[in-house]
Amino acid sequence: MNIPFVDLKAQYLSIKEAMDRAIFSVISDTSFIGGKPVKAFEAAFADAYGVDHVVSCANGTDSLYIIMKQLGIGSGDEVITAANSWISSSETITQTGAKPVFVDVHPDYYSMDERLIEAKITRATKAVIAVHLQGQMCDIEKIREICDRKGIFLIEDCAQSHFSTSGGKRAGLFGHAASFSFYPGKNLGAYGDAGCIITSDGLLAEKCRMYANHGALVKHQHKMEGINSRLDGLQAAVLSTKLPHIMEWTAARRRNAMIYHEALSGITGIMRPEVRPDTEHSWHLYVVRAERRDELAHFLKARGVETAIHYPTALPLLPAYAYLGAVPQDFPVAYRLQASILSLPMYPELSSEMIGYVSDSIRAFYS
Ligand SMILES: *Cc1c(COP(=O)(O)O)cnc(C)c1O
Repeated sequence: MNIPFVDLKAQYLSIKEAMDRAIFSVISDTSFIGGKPVKAFEAAFADAYGVDHVVSCANGTDSLYIIMKQLGIGSGDEVITAANSWISSSETITQTGAKPVFVDVHPDYYSMDERLIEAKITRATKAVIAVHLQGQMCDIEKIREICDRKGIFLIEDCAQSHFSTSGGKRAGLFGHAASFSFYPGKNLGAYGDAGCIITSDGLLAEKCRMYANHGALVKHQHKMEGINSRLDGLQAAVLSTKLPHIMEWTAARRRNAMIYHEALSGITGIMRPEVRPDTEHSWHLYVVRAERRDELAHFLKARGVETAIHYPTALPLLPAYAYLGAVPQDFPVAYRLQASILSLPMYPELSSEMIGYVSDSIRAFYS
């Protein structure tokens, strides 16, 4: 058997007719940047997600940067983020002129450890970026309480957590604003780069929209300097075509996670992922902890099973952050995890036979 880590082709084939039609219609209408398809996607996503304002932009990284710039974050400020994430969660802090401050991740749930945040807050702290990693939400109620009490902004990085919930409320609806990525491999993915900002703050939404479009809401009326970070019509049409399927695909990911959970039970050498109580995981990734991880990955590869590591080096230990002078003991959980985590194939179209094959292969490795 050959099991890729993700299979974007399988999803395309399942909606091919509608997708081809949607893409062709953008081309024949030549609505390449902005315009009708973009407005339609923003409205549809706001409606599906249950949020007042959706501001689309070029990618998820930009959405974090735009939010921080429009919250007035810059030189002399500090922003707290997670030690294990994709580098967008921290490089955008630096891009604003502020300093990234890392907190270690939770030993059971792998997302930002809420118990370690307060100790990192200084007079310079302006915001916390809560990264809901792998589809698993942070303890966002607790983080929200800390941010409110300290009078700092809460920004949610939802790039890996579309439609995850905590206490029945969706990721991205707890903070001042939230960032989404629609990178092709994300749970809701475009056919290129795409992202958006969501917020219930109308003024903030308008400022973000203006900043992402050269500082102008109306052509040639630049109220400030901005950047060029717009969603294109083709990506908007792709996203609008996929959006009606997202709940069904998220349910399929949950079903697949349960099948993995059963199939991987009782294997010494493997620790299955745990779901935080009172939350719904959206299973962007299915991450196990494995003894002899690299050997296992090699063994699986030889059997046609592709795996990945998210991420092989904790952010503060990357060469990019050597100037901060962190050592492994500063982030013991992230450091321990980086040597043992392994992401198994996970996507809605994965069949129970395929999961069975992956799990049997893992069992074979340890026995
Ligand atoms: C993918 C991702 C981003 C960035 O999204 P892009 O669309 O690739 O720019 C930001 N944060 C996290 C946690 C991500 O996984």
